[in-house]
Amino acid sequence: APAARVIDGKAVAQRLRARVAERVAALPFRPGLRVVRVGDDPASGVYVRNKDRAALAAGFDSETVLLPADVRETALLYLIGELNADPAVDGILVQLPLPPQIRQEAVVDAIDPAKDVDGFHPVNAGLLATRQPSLVPCTPKGVMHLLREAGVPLAGARAVVLGRSQIVGRPLLQLLLDADCTVTVAHSRTRDLPAECRRADVLVAAVGRPEMVRGDWVAPGAAVIDVGINRLPDGRLAGDVAFAEVAGHAGAITPVPGGVGPMTIACLLENTLDAALRRRGEANGG
Ligand code: NDP
Repeated sequence: APAARVIDGKAVAQRLRARVAERVAALPFRPGLRVVRVGDDPASGVYVRNKDRAALAAGFDSETVLLPADVRETALLYLIGELNADPAVDGILVQLPLPPQIRQEAVVDAIDPAKDVDGFHPVNAGLLATRQPSLVPCTPKGVMHLLREAGVPLAGARAVVLGRSQIVGRPLLQLLLDADCTVTVAHSRTRDLPAECRRADVLVAAVGRPEMVRGDWVAPGAAVIDVGINRLPDGRLAGDVAFAEVAGHAGAITPVPGGVGPMTIACLLENTLDAALRRRGEANGG
């Protein structure tokens, strides 16, 4: 049996979704979410369906807009303009990645920052970096929820984030810093990754390399959050952390699947509710 406490992301996500649903039920309107999907790639189809189902279950007015894989960028930008202008729409999410004829940056930049429930718009990134209220990217937000729910002490703790992507590593730097951690962000050019990781009280792995973090990279008692979702050749899912090795001596650890993954959708719902309350002038509604 592992020495580490296994953090049950599924249960935490379920509770968060229930809280969102309760708050939505008490509103005089249904927050609107629109998920835009380009092409019908089956892998992203699963994600989109899950998002849609979770949003409907929470009481949102949710719809998926499916565009053909060869849609032109101008047509997608036009659609975003319509959704921006639609008062019934509180949240817009464009499923990434997009096909090569469409510039991802142009699309993200076109979304009204107040409706940007993925939190990828540069305005939201800037608000987060300057510690102002913003829509925070769902996965990093989910990581912070898990750390808090698991009772991991953050103030003064040494946090190491593996990965510096715009959607996970960088926002996590801000969020952990705001939680009074001393933060190191490591990446592919970091010298002696294992040594950096061993200094961590809180280690978050978001690299996309199956089981890269080995047992001897983790200090005894550390809290380890595994963001990685990697599909192995045999079809199994693996995290960025070698779970069996690390769970032997970490203090707490998230599994894959069942850790960060379920939190991402729950946080998307939370962001959509927040966006709706802010847009409709009912900030601090819960
Ligand atoms: P990116 O590919 O955008 O970023 C990966 C980061 O890891 C980069 O900063 C890269 O460094 C760094 N990295 C890659 N290889 C190494 C290495 N060998 N040593 C050290 N650092 C390395 O990935 P994402 O941030 O988008 O995603 C990371 C993982 O999280 C993936 O497995 C993804 O599937 C998963 N994910 C899960 C989500 C969820 O739970 N819902 C949501 C989003 C992502 P450099 O910058 O130098 O290239």
